[in-house]
Amino acid sequence: KGGSRPQPQGPQKVPGVDRILAVASGKGGVGKSTVSANLACALAAEGRRVGLLDADVYGPSQPRMLGVSGKPASPDGKTILPLRNYGVTMMSIGLMTNEDQAVIWRGPMLMGALQQMMNQVQWGALDVLIIDLPPGTGDVQMTLSQKFAVDGAVVVSTPQDVALLDARRGIDMFNQMKVPIVGLIENMSTHICSNCGHEEHVFGHGGVAAEAEKLGVPLLAEIPLHLDIRTASDGGAPIVVSKPDSPQAQSFRDVAKAL
Ligand code: ADP
Repeated sequence: KGGSRPQPQGPQKVPGVDRILAVASGKGGVGKSTVSANLACALAAEGRRVGLLDADVYGPSQPRMLGVSGKPASPDGKTILPLRNYGVTMMSIGLMTNEDQAVIWRGPMLMGALQQMMNQVQWGALDVLIIDLPPGTGDVQMTLSQKFAVDGAVVVSTPQDVALLDARRGIDMFNQMKVPIVGLIENMSTHICSNCGHEEHVFGHGGVAAEAEKLGVPLLAEIPLHLDIRTASDGGAPIVVSKPDSPQAQSFRDVAKAL
């Protein structure tokens, strides 16, 4: 008796959160945030309790994609009240700064901010918390996989060789961190002309499928490059919400079902 008990070591869970799923990419601009937003909305539409943490410190885009703005409140000065739209409970590092303010943070600050978002945001009871990671394999990814019990990672890539190369590094990092890869998503897989429906493989085709096969992980979806996906996100209502019956929305819904 007496003496302090050793603190439990290893990755911690976020109270009330059943599953933590990270959405990652090797490169920026491949559609990781678009995928995160649409998956979150699709899960919510299925009746699942879903949270979305926008941890993309270099380009936080979830407030815009989910059409929310304003600073989150902290009535007690300790915990932060998340925002909510389309049934998704959301918090973004972008809501702590101005939208057009560059975030120049050092590693320790990034790690502190991430831990604060995980632990001090009142997420409530969630079936799944989706984390929209920054691109690459930096401090945020490392801290997340070391300190928190991440149940899986979804990796988004375009079929382009350069994107795939970086995605491979990301997958390797998750493997080293013992975070299971839930599957890969090929985004901008093919361009579908919104006028005539003509399909063109702008960034090549099939690269992500081949990678998934090599790694023995599922290819969760091949999402086309489609104008509606972009305008929906820019308009603050992801395609899953604004055009739920479109084939583009359906591909996100299929992934959500498999998660
Ligand atoms: P990342 O999070 O990887 O940096 P984003 O999700 O922010 O990438 O996407 C980058 C840009 O490309 C955004 O303007 C987004 O709306 C657009 N975009 C992403 N995926 C698609 C798609 N499948 N079709 C059309 N536009 C897309």
